[in-house]
Amino acid sequence: MKVLTTRREFLAKATGCTAALMSAFHISPEIVNAKETRNWPMIVCSRGEDWGQKVNQPGWDILKGGGKALDAVEKSTNVVELDPLDQTVGFGGLPNENGDVELDASIIDGATQNCGSVASLRHIKTPSSVARLVMERSDHIMLVGKGALKFAIAHGFKKENLLTDDSRIKWLQWKENMSSVDDWLPPQNGDYTSERSTGTINVLGIDNDGNIAGITSTSGLAYKIPGRVGDSPIIGAGLYVDNEVGAAGATGRGEEVIRTCGSFLVVELMRQGMHPQKACEEACMRIVHVNRGLERTTQLNFNDKFIAINKNGDVGCASIRGNKSTPPQMAITDKSGFHVYNGTYLVER
Ligand code: ASP
Repeated sequence: MKVLTTRREFLAKATGCTAALMSAFHISPEIVNAKETRNWPMIVCSRGEDWGQKVNQPGWDILKGGGKALDAVEKSTNVVELDPLDQTVGFGGLPNENGDVELDASIIDGATQNCGSVASLRHIKTPSSVARLVMERSDHIMLVGKGALKFAIAHGFKKENLLTDDSRIKWLQWKENMSSVDDWLPPQNGDYTSERSTGTINVLGIDNDGNIAGITSTSGLAYKIPGRVGDSPIIGAGLYVDNEVGAAGATGRGEEVIRTCGSFLVVELMRQGMHPQKACEEACMRIVHVNRGLERTTQLNFNDKFIAINKNGDVGCASIRGNKSTPPQMAITDKSGFHVYNGTYLVER
């Protein structure tokens, strides 16, 4: 029997794809070579130009003043959680199938290697801050649903309506177009599309002391079954941080990220010396692999994206789908200023 000598050969064999296809990440970026010096402090998020500036700025202000990575990533995540214009995170997020907004978030503090998370949390605009309290003010790691809400209220969070009119109308359009055999009807001449969007935010940072922290926050899959929990609040899936190695976060179809322990995988690959860019690509490949190859994965029509930083401040970003005009992106703020990094993708959208 022939021994498969390289990882590429192994993957190609295991997934039934050719080696050429399996390695075909489309490169639009300035893939940076590993840095010899440390790029501290820095903050990154899983967004491009528009949100990147707004999200990174408050965290950067904390970091450049000598503050902690943990405080920086929380402040930055709160920006998008509190903004009703983003319909994938926090206040204004798209609801579940019943019209209730249910939020998931996780946080990891590399300095202590502690973590906290909340899932299916209703009525609180900033789930990442509740996750931080779970980490710091309880002996647990994860609280869900009513328990998470009670815990938040006990700590002084206000119970609020998270469903904005824009999100309610999108949900209503989805509901009215979902089936022709129920009693919910779209208006006559209604020109509706029933797009089922996803989205999330990952924020990762390194402070002046070299401590790393990360957060992932989301309203999850739009119109999900009530109680559905994605990858974002699951430590190792939607987020992982190891102070000795680096940090990674995931966005996209959470079920795929959960079953591959995606962010943990990225960090473990970096631990073995892999550049964050390559590690993100490998995690995408693992999802392709568990879906029995590229051809079948492409038919399934989902997307996943990983971003990562290593201990030195090298970065990586890759997704399964993308195209030249919308490559996967991450926004970076460091001593050199703000810039957007274009990642790689495996297949054209
Ligand atoms: N990963 C999130 C989830 O599955 C959604 C997303 O990133 O779009 O809940």
